[in-house]
Amino acid sequence: MLQKIDHLGIAVKSLEAAIAHYEQVMGLTCEQIEEIESQKVRTAFFEVGQTHIELLEPTSEDSPLAKFLEKNGEGIHHVAYYTDDIEAQLKKAQEAGCKLINTEPVTGAGGKRIAFLHPKSTNGVLTEFCTKDG
Ligand code: ZN
Repeated sequence: MLQKIDHLGIAVKSLEAAIAHYEQVMGLTCEQIEEIESQKVRTAFFEVGQTHIELLEPTSEDSPLAKFLEKNGEGIHHVAYYTDDIEAQLKKAQEAGCKLINTEPVTGAGGKRIAFLHPKSTNGVLTEFCTKDG
């Protein structure tokens, strides 16, 4: 079952500039910066009550995120839902005819297990399921 919006992913060109904005303008504190090699991104997380903001910066020109920025510019990149059973959630989505980017969970920021649904199947919004590690 989906339990909450875990975080909103925001694509940025410069992680440092965006972190400064979130700290100085929004008054938030960056909790962690992490490079996810498999996805060719660097991420920064901010806690906002029950949810988080995840800033994402591409680490190479062939990163899918670099292509997203080229096409759309900076802005909302994905919505991530927290689930207590990511396998069941993926199975349910697939059975309902949803196109999946990840048919199996992969390791994301903070060691969480994550999987993406294809935006063509989700009203144009790249959608992530995530759950705690292990
Ligand atoms: Zn995310």
